[in-house]
Amino acid sequence: MSIDTKKLQALLQWYKQSIGENLVTALIVNREGLVIDALSKNAEESVDEEIVGGVSALVEPVLTRITKEFSSGSFGTGTFDTEEYRFIFCEAGPEAVFVTILKAIAGVDPVFPYAYLTAEKIARIFDGRTVSPVIPKLISDSNAENIERKIEKLQKVKVQSGEYAFKLILGGDGAVGKTSLVHRFVENTFAKDYKSTIGTSIMKKECNFKELESAVRFVIWDLAGQSQFQRVRKSYLANAEAGILVYDVTNRKSFENIKNWHNEIKKVSPNISLILVGNKIDLKEDRAVKSQEGNTIADNLGLSYIETSAKTGENINDAFKMLALLMIKKYFITEEV
Ligand code: GDP
Ligand code: MG
Repeated sequence: MSIDTKKLQALLQWYKQSIGENLVTALIVNREGLVIDALSKNAEESVDEEIVGGVSALVEPVLTRITKEFSSGSFGTGTFDTEEYRFIFCEAGPEAVFVTILKAIAGVDPVFPYAYLTAEKIARIFDGRTVSPVIPKLISDSNAENIERKIEKLQKVKVQSGEYAFKLILGGDGAVGKTSLVHRFVENTFAKDYKSTIGTSIMKKECNFKELESAVRFVIWDLAGQSQFQRVRKSYLANAEAGILVYDVTNRKSFENIKNWHNEIKKVSPNISLILVGNKIDLKEDRAVKSQEGNTIADNLGLSYIETSAKTGENINDAFKMLALLMIKKYFITEEV
């Protein structure tokens, strides 16, 4: 296969112009994360090996992880943040992935349409089809809307053809135990030291509870680092079918904030099925919210309520089972009628 590398480079240069100064660099990598081509300083110069070396060390593990977790290898588009950079991954045909690296302060939303369009063009170049390296201005273009819609669809992470996984998100204040809860459920472990994670980690877990006849697959999105929330809220919350609202029973403020989390999530994903979890019940002495209060607020919001400890593992499986049941009721049973 001979790739038109000149055209590829011209396309990347257009891309650079479209994105502006927030762009650190853009790479085309294969499924293993090996760099096929990258943006050079200008069309004449060759690629800056140092930058490519540095970022591909970051890209590779993320990419292998994304492709491994989604067994079909198909993930559409995805984002990932580190403290220094923001990554956008877009599939560019079956072989390649287009990786955009932005400065940490950049917003992803305005870049998405360009990244998506560029990835499509890259796929065409790889296919040997004719394609113009020119990237039109998309902002006021009616095309942009179309593309955005496509992206929304793609964010429903495809797991295996013909199968469907529900996107599950978590809401609740920082340090209430969201990440611990997920790790407890996914790996059945509990990490003692609190490390505020970075980026969005995405885990896949199939729920095969004996009592439930159908298996329910969840793709769990865990927002790492609470401060990331405002920045990524839209793509994080969008298209979520299931969610867990978590508060810490020893932290009254986190309980009072549940209503806000509920509103925020419902605004973006109105059809989401939610449950309410009061976590850290192992800390009996420090309890600041009574079970009855949890029940009452859950009733008011029309949710089921369960109390858990990510530390001891108490009720963790049952919490996810409650959600799995909601999914079955909503999607499987109603479909048969
Ligand atoms: P997140 O910010 O909501 O994701 O919270 P984390 O999962 O990172 O947890 C914050 C802190 O609370 C960590 O130190 C955890 O070890 C601790 N933690 C989480 N769940 C529990 C629990 O059920 N019991 C106790 N005692 N500590 C917990
Ligand atoms: Mg967390």
